[in-house]
Amino acid sequence: MLAKDECDDLADLGIELSFEQADALSKAQLETLPLSMLLIASIAGISFDGEAPLRALGWFAAMLTIYFFRYRLSQTYRTLDDKAGDDARLYLKRSLVGGALSGLGFALVPPLFLDAKIDQAIPLIFILMGITSGAVVHCAAYKPLSMIINIPIVLATAIKMLGMDNTYHVMMSFDILLYLLFLWGTASRLEQAFIARVNITAKAFQLAASVKSEHAATQAAVASLYQLANYDSLTSLSNRAAFSRQLNSWLDDAAKAQTRFLLILVDIDHFKSVNDTLGHRAGDSVLAEVARRLSGAFSGTHLAARLGGDEFAVICPISSDDARGRVKATAEMLVAAVNGPFFLEERTINICISLGVAAYPEDGASTADLLANADLALYAAKRSERDSWRQVDFSLLEAAKMTRRLDNDLPIALNHGELEVWYQPQITTATGRLSGLEALIRWNHPVHGWITPPQIVAAAWRMRIPEQLTGFVLDQACQKLRDLAEAGFEKVGVAMNISPRELDQYDLPDLVRRCIATHGIDPGLLELEITEETLADSPAAIAALTVLASMGVRLAIDDFSMGYTSLAYLRTMRVNRIKIDRSFVTGFADRPDDQILVQAILGIGRSFKIDVVAEGVETAEEAILLRAFGCQVVQGFFFGHPMRDDALDRWMAENARLDSAKPRGHEASAARPALAISATF
Ligand code: C2E
Ligand code: MG
Ligand code: MG
Repeated sequence: MLAKDECDDLADLGIELSFEQADALSKAQLETLPLSMLLIASIAGISFDGEAPLRALGWFAAMLTIYFFRYRLSQTYRTLDDKAGDDARLYLKRSLVGGALSGLGFALVPPLFLDAKIDQAIPLIFILMGITSGAVVHCAAYKPLSMIINIPIVLATAIKMLGMDNTYHVMMSFDILLYLLFLWGTASRLEQAFIARVNITAKAFQLAASVKSEHAATQAAVASLYQLANYDSLTSLSNRAAFSRQLNSWLDDAAKAQTRFLLILVDIDHFKSVNDTLGHRAGDSVLAEVARRLSGAFSGTHLAARLGGDEFAVICPISSDDARGRVKATAEMLVAAVNGPFFLEERTINICISLGVAAYPEDGASTADLLANADLALYAAKRSERDSWRQVDFSLLEAAKMTRRLDNDLPIALNHGELEVWYQPQITTATGRLSGLEALIRWNHPVHGWITPPQIVAAAWRMRIPEQLTGFVLDQACQKLRDLAEAGFEKVGVAMNISPRELDQYDLPDLVRRCIATHGIDPGLLELEITEETLADSPAAIAALTVLASMGVRLAIDDFSMGYTSLAYLRTMRVNRIKIDRSFVTGFADRPDDQILVQAILGIGRSFKIDVVAEGVETAEEAILLRAFGCQVVQGFFFGHPMRDDALDRWMAENARLDSAKPRGHEASAARPALAISATF
């Protein structure tokens, strides 16, 4: 049963048993041929010495012929080039024929040469039985062959013994028949063992093959994991993780060898617009091409990596002589290699890059410093309209440190009341009276001193606290309105600055409404100056401005110029005032062109029936000229710098007096401030 199971297994393993058997048999046949010849010669020799030498010679010749046939058969089979299963089965069949002939040949020995002569009979029987056991061993792979040889030999010997009519011979005859049974059993077991061995070998081979293929698959998986972990799939450049390791090792090597190298950070200009307008596929093509051009720009050792998005990095060695000149040459070479037309599927676009360069060791002794400094340089290059590359500039570093410090300190300063609101007076040209105050933020930083309002505002945006900053100024402005009213200046308004971006970020109208309610002030005295040149054209921003206007809060356009955005505000918003940019006003007495511009803006104000305020008035001449042009309100250092509360009080005491001596209609009861400086007009 074992043999059958094993055979089924072999078939499952794709092994053909007859093929294995034919292989083993043909090999055994060729190996045992010399021994077989020796035994045949021995039988012939012993028999030749007997009564029929010619018969012995004839038998010897016949056996030689049979064995030659069997030898040729095995040899031919073994030399077949592409042995198929059919060849093997045919060989086995022919072997059976050869085996049967051999068996019959040996079976002739007892009737022909065996007689009672003991000294002849014993060696012949010994050789014949030896042949049978040898056949079982050598034909272990294929039992039918050993049995087809052995059965005739054993039966012929047993029959011959029986015919000798002697008790011992009869007993020997039975022993020989028993021996045949033993041979049968042994041949069966040997054949099973052979099949089992073939089976085990096949399984071992299969296991080895599967281990090999598993190993190959594991190797492939490891390789692809390595690829994924270290390389960017789009450009095949090193990715950020691999790049930081490589930068570390460049730095270690350079430190040991005391050499220099450049770290260059690369950013594609306006890449977002490529993605937005041409789609991500075009964006991917651009990234891949930039990667190709970056790598192709260097002939010697270098490393190019994609850090993510449209950010790339390059490391390249640089010689110690003429350091600055070489940095410039390398950066310009890289820019020239990458910049230029990019041919996409349907169109050609022009791509430019910006570079930030840091040299080791002078621009940073650690990877963190090098990266941070190259990043700053890149930022500076991106902002510059003139340069496409920048090397680390230590003033940039100081500025970045300061920015970080301000960002960190602003929320704390705001909570601890370290920020102040200063006020600058605004004067009505017709009367010379104080018409209002502009609230301006101030921060005296313990380390960096006075921080400019645009820096404070920018820090508030970076720290995502514009609402808190505006809330603080608004609260102060409303408080100031109350103080003014209590001091009798009921008609003096307060203006404060708002970034149009704030309108999208939080509910400014609600903040204003709550503050007005808390302080109980007249919303018409609060003016919001919309700063910055960005037009607040989002529906949310326009809606917020409309709500503010409907609440009675006044709206002004700050830094008004003849630019498109300023004019567009007039279309989209219900504006109460425009404020002429101070760059047109300061010193304009000597600039006829600016005088024409100021007059044009005043004309726009008249056409829209809105007030025009001129800021940046520094001289009496400017003030007089503005009044002559018909400007209603002026503001500037000539009348007063921005002042903190106590200074403003002093300024008001010196310059503004409550003028209730001139009652005017229904305003008669309201005291009005008049200005000592009204003498200017
Ligand atoms: P702005 O609203 O146009 O304010 C007028 C600026 O001109 C003030 O600068 C003021 O000090 C300056 N100035 C006034 N008169 C003269 C003059 O005669 N000559 C010269 N050279 N300058 C004069 P400041 O206070 O540095 O404010 C700068 C800008 O920062 C402001 O311009 C405003 O846009 C913004 N800002 C100030 N405070 C705030 C705030 O609380 N929130 C927001 N969002 N922005 C603010
Ligand atoms: Mg302003
Ligand atoms: Mg302004």
